[in-house]
Amino acid sequence: SKAHADTKTYQIGTDVTFPPFEFANNDNKYVGIDMDLLRAIAKNQDFKVNIKPLGFNGSVQATQSGQIDGMISGMNITPERKGTFDFSKPYYSSGVVMAVAPNSSIKSLNNLKGKTVAVKTGTAGADYANSIQKKYGFKVSTFDDSNNMYQDVITGNSVACFEDNPVMMYAIKQGTKLKIVTKPANNGYYGFAVKKGQNKELLHKFNVGLDNLKKNGEYQKIVDKYLKANP
Ligand code: GLN
Repeated sequence: SKAHADTKTYQIGTDVTFPPFEFANNDNKYVGIDMDLLRAIAKNQDFKVNIKPLGFNGSVQATQSGQIDGMISGMNITPERKGTFDFSKPYYSSGVVMAVAPNSSIKSLNNLKGKTVAVKTGTAGADYANSIQKKYGFKVSTFDDSNNMYQDVITGNSVACFEDNPVMMYAIKQGTKLKIVTKPANNGYYGFAVKKGQNKELLHKFNVGLDNLKKNGEYQKIVDKYLKANP
């Protein structure tokens, strides 16, 4: 039909392994809170999305260079990022925690002196670690995705990693051999992002769709699907 011929397809970048927000299921389909939310909003607002698993920093770069139309990646809305991105209304709250090996002697930031910590390039966790690095005297090792970051702590190359609280909690529940030792810091909200000044129409559709899904209960259903089934 003509309506469908006019339906726009947007290219959207995301992280590769960031459950419960985005991850590949057994059929290699991208699922999770962000993925289901975006698809539901697209359906509600009559547009299509092509999901590109570029990694977090890869999605940031691709959005900024205009290679893709936007990104949804458990991305914090920050004043600094607002310099180069326009964000949707907030859709989830999160803060950064530190995780260590279960038998680790590291109990707080004060134990990090002279040690190495693992972070994911370009993330709020990396920003947080960099902001306190001098004060606590640790070194920083960077990784492109969360799995490799966790692995570096599990194998003992790094003594700790900095990750979003809901993501770290979910990974631990799913069997990742780490434990959280700090309270969430730098708390903020996730938002869908487009390059500043670009794709205003897409951003508007996202916001209207998000409002609709919050009103009709679908937003909560999506969150519960990933978090209530695995309490
Ligand atoms: N919420 C964090 C940020 O905005 C991490 C996002 C991610 O790793 N996908 O930087």
